[in-house]
Amino acid sequence: MTTLAFIGLGRMGHGMAGRYLDAGFDVAVWNRSKAKAEDLIARGARWASSPAEAANGTDAIVTMVADDEASRAVWLGKDGAASAAKAGTIALECSTVSYNHALDLAAELRGRGLIYIDSPVTGLPDAAASGKLTLLIGAEPADLEQARPFLAPLASTIRHFGPVGAGTVYKLINNLMGAIQIAGIAEGLAIAEQAGLDMKLVLEAVGTGVAASPQVIRHSRRMAARDFSGANFTAALRHKDAAYAVALAERLLSGAPLMARAAVEAYARAKAYAPDEDEAKLIEIVSRPKGGAA
Ligand code: NAP
Repeated sequence: MTTLAFIGLGRMGHGMAGRYLDAGFDVAVWNRSKAKAEDLIARGARWASSPAEAANGTDAIVTMVADDEASRAVWLGKDGAASAAKAGTIALECSTVSYNHALDLAAELRGRGLIYIDSPVTGLPDAAASGKLTLLIGAEPADLEQARPFLAPLASTIRHFGPVGAGTVYKLINNLMGAIQIAGIAEGLAIAEQAGLDMKLVLEAVGTGVAASPQVIRHSRRMAARDFSGANFTAALRHKDAAYAVALAERLLSGAPLMARAAVEAYARAKAYAPDEDEAKLIEIVSRPKGGAA
């Protein structure tokens, strides 16, 4: 049976690990807090007491954690996955990490004989749980071919952007554009409310107008209703992605990246206000009465 270590069982990783169980893989799981693994263990996953124990002797290692710091910890920290992985293991980093981190981690893992695949994803937690993610791949073509059996359970679409790091470049620009759109719709709706417009009519016009995108349509409804239930993507993660996009822009663009900086500033405030709640809460900051802003 094909063996796989899955590390990081948050909103996204939990569903992704379940996909491998459903596909018949022998799955070892590790998460910083064990409670999130209980139902996966009941479905047949083996609990590992560390990333290293999960990775020991396995064919592939998949990680889905919050950020660079978490990725570094689970791969390269004490009892990290890299310490126990055998040469030739597929190393699939699905977390959204910075471009520099993706390159550094790839160099470190390749130095140990692992096959590194840069594989951030788009899609919400429901897509993660149903195998309908889009994978944004940076890898050598031959490495990608070898990794395909480990990608298939997760994805309905696989986009190969180029060598390691290329998937992360696309992921960061994708989420930067999302951050700017969401911040824009929060400000636009707050202005419309303040001006006393009929918000039902505003939502109808937004959803059918030229500025409509799936992102704008989804968030405008939730923001107008102040419905932040079932958080899919937190303010802290959106801030992290925008900050990584600024670092990338500073590396690749001459001159100051203005929109990226504005997005970081907006989400720094949202993160300070409610880090673990839905990113759409940004509207509560921009629509606060004067003097009450975070
Ligand atoms: P989440 O629910 O907040 O889960 C974060 C995961 O990272 C948890 O397993 C958490 O462990 C772990 N973690 C955090 N800090 C850690 C550390 N220092 N050491 C070890 N583990 C650590 O986040 P998510 O929504 O699943 O997102 C996971 C990744 O996918 C992020 O990179 C995010 O940007 C990306 N992403 C998310 C979405 C989305 O819609 N949510 C979509 C596409 C991509 P604990 O459970 O112990 O806290």
